[in-house]
Amino acid sequence: MQSVNQELKIYNSISGVKETFNTVTKDHVGMYVCGPTVYSNVHLGNLRTFTSFDVIYRYLNHIGYKVRYVRNITDVGHLENDEDVGEDRIIKKARIENLEPMEVVQKYTYDFHETVRRFNLLPPNIEPTATGHITDQIRLIEKIIDEGMAYVVNGSVYFDVFEYSKSNNYGILSKRNLEDLIHNTRSLDGQSDKKNPQDFALWKKAETKHIMKWNSPWSEGFPGWHIECTAMSNKYLGDIFDIHGGGIDLKFPHHECEIAQSNVCFGTNAANYWVHANMLTLNGQKMSKSTDNNILPEEIFSKGSPLLSKTFSESCVKFFMLQAHYRSVLDLSNEALVAAEKGYNKLIDAINILESFKDFSNKSDFDIKEWVNNCYKAMNDDFNTPILIANIFDAVKFINKVNQEKGNISKEDWEVLLRSINSFVFDVMGLQKLKLRNNENSKINNVIDVLLELRNDARKNKNYELSDKIRDMLKNKGISINDSDKDSSFTID
Ligand code: AMP
Ligand code: ZN
Repeated sequence: MQSVNQELKIYNSISGVKETFNTVTKDHVGMYVCGPTVYSNVHLGNLRTFTSFDVIYRYLNHIGYKVRYVRNITDVGHLENDEDVGEDRIIKKARIENLEPMEVVQKYTYDFHETVRRFNLLPPNIEPTATGHITDQIRLIEKIIDEGMAYVVNGSVYFDVFEYSKSNNYGILSKRNLEDLIHNTRSLDGQSDKKNPQDFALWKKAETKHIMKWNSPWSEGFPGWHIECTAMSNKYLGDIFDIHGGGIDLKFPHHECEIAQSNVCFGTNAANYWVHANMLTLNGQKMSKSTDNNILPEEIFSKGSPLLSKTFSESCVKFFMLQAHYRSVLDLSNEALVAAEKGYNKLIDAINILESFKDFSNKSDFDIKEWVNNCYKAMNDDFNTPILIANIFDAVKFINKVNQEKGNISKEDWEVLLRSINSFVFDVMGLQKLKLRNNENSKINNVIDVLLELRNDARKNKNYELSDKIRDMLKNKGISINDSDKDSSFTID
């Protein structure tokens, strides 16, 4: 392993502290991440969570672990509002779009795969679907009933949270207390089958017109949302595995329920490290599929959005995300993306310059060994990409100095620096090497920005002849200027 002399620490949501990472099986990691519910296009918020786990996966591979990464596709059972009542999200979409539910699943699974590929996220090793594991889920539900922790009412099966709490800690993850839950849970219509409103569905009897349903010992119906992840993670990773991940919004109830199910079925919390990625917000509010507060990847990469002055490349957006730690909330704004683009281009320019170095000195005036060490230190401290990026920018500063003949580098150090910077930027963070295309684009954008600034100066000085001339000349070249009260931006036709 490349960072043998340093321990990897991971923040565990169960203990609330960073813990030394010890795996169940030496040199192997089992990692399960809750995947998308495929009822609509993935938005940038979803992409942030999957990017966070992509970097974790890449880094674990990089330091020599053999990782089995399982990320599911939820194609049944996820009801509206994450509750046990309401319509299945996929069936609702099928009704609205006049499609078969499986057409909805196919359409949005395809969209998801296209988007993550475009964003250069590595595919998981196994990508199981909930509908492909109905019998595994039924088997687990039978076991939970046998253990006396679930009950059957009118063809539906519910997990008995009260019974479970007598000998287990329901709330171990979310730190919610059952007493508080009882006070705070509304009693919703349609939940009257449950002994207590805190109980959650393991199996739901389907109404006659419900399309997605399967035979079971209790009724023709469909599984609850939480049992699918317990069934699939257990099937491919075993009774206890290393990392279970997902967005922080899944901590409760989804992950708390998974832990309860796993304790009854296997006597474990499923995973030793529960890892949660924080939310991407827009205008300070969580980006979400079910509200209109979101930006789709397509809008940001190619189509444009009224919220943005221009489009941004995939790597620039990813760089923007990785400048924040995965456990911090991150707010998306045009300003932040513009700043990230500048930073990213500066980084790629420096790597290009570094590659072209031909003149070397006997010794360097930069401690490369320590620098490499610091990069590992950042990643070993709960995958701290913002610190890693800050370190990388120390190297960028040094590269630019050498380029301006204000610094020295030896051939040996050059080789180490080039290899390390490439592996951290492209292999670990998964930024893309589309250097030339992005670079050329960004250079053109920079030139246009200069012209816009000159035109703004002309407008401020009331030299409208010049400002109109610049606008018209750009228009002739297919570049339109959009003026607003505050700023000008441009679009390339
Ligand atoms: P869903 O398809 O809604 O089940 O979400 C798929 C994944 O994206 C889950 O791990 C969610 O926690 C995560 N997610 C949803 N919204 C956001 C957001 N605004 N920011 C970051 N992650 C999110
Ligand atoms: Zn899940």
